[in-house]
Amino acid sequence: MRILVLSDIHANLPALEAVLAHAGYYDAVWCLGDIVGYGPQPNECVEMVRGLPGLECVMGNHDAAVTNSLDLEGFNQDARSSAEWTSKTLKLSNAVYLSALSKIRQTGQFTLAHGTPRNPIWEYMLNPFNALMNFGHFKTPFCIVGHTHVPAMFYLDPASDDVKSMDIQDGQLYLLSPQTQTILNPGSVGQPRDYDPKASYGIITVQGDRILWQVNRVSYAVDQVAQMILKLKLPAAHAERLLMGW
Ligand code: ZN
Repeated sequence: MRILVLSDIHANLPALEAVLAHAGYYDAVWCLGDIVGYGPQPNECVEMVRGLPGLECVMGNHDAAVTNSLDLEGFNQDARSSAEWTSKTLKLSNAVYLSALSKIRQTGQFTLAHGTPRNPIWEYMLNPFNALMNFGHFKTPFCIVGHTHVPAMFYLDPASDDVKSMDIQDGQLYLLSPQTQTILNPGSVGQPRDYDPKASYGIITVQGDRILWQVNRVSYAVDQVAQMILKLKLPAAHAERLLMGW
C-alpha cells in the first residue's frame, strides 16, 4: 500500500502535476488542505485533486477563507487580496466542494488535519513545544499536518516522555512505530517555505507490519508560475517567494 500525501498546493498546477508524475504509482491520496490561495490556477487544482484515487481531504485556512467559512481578518493584505481574487474566480461546484471539507479526519492509524489536531484551521505546528501541546488531541498513533509549508517530524519519546524532532532528509525512509506517537508534515507542494523552491510531498508505504515515511522534493517550472501570478496582477510578493522557496 502506497499513499501519496499532499499539502498546501495553493493553486500551483505545475507543481501539483510535477509531484503526481514524480510519485509514480499510489493506491490512495491524502490531502491536508489549502488547495487554493496565493496561486493562479485554483479551479484546475481543485478539479485535479477531486479526481485523485482514494482521496481523503481536510480543509485548510485558505479553503475556508475563499468560501466565506472564515473571516479574512487573520490574513495579511497580500493573502487577503489573493483570497478575494480566488473567491471570484472559483467555479461554484469547486467552492461547494471546498466548503464541505471536514476539518479533521481519521483514517486507519492516522489523523489528518491542516494546522494541528487541537486547532485544525489556524494553529501552526512549528516546534516540539507546539507538538507537545497537541499529542493529547489525537487518538491514533500518527497525525499528519501541513500549514507551515516546511517538512517536519515530531515524536513522543517513550523513554523520556519528551518530544523530539527529526531533521527530514530528501528521499530518506523513516520507519514509524505505532508504539511511538508521531506527528508528520510533508511540506508544501505549491509554496515551500524552507528556502528550497522544489515542490515537497510525502509517501507512506505500508509493507505488512512496516510503516515507512518519506518526503520527496521535485523541480518544476517555478518561473512559469511566477509569471502567471504577475500577469494576473496577483500580489508580486507571491511570485517572488516561490522563486526563493520562502
Ligand atoms: Zn498554506
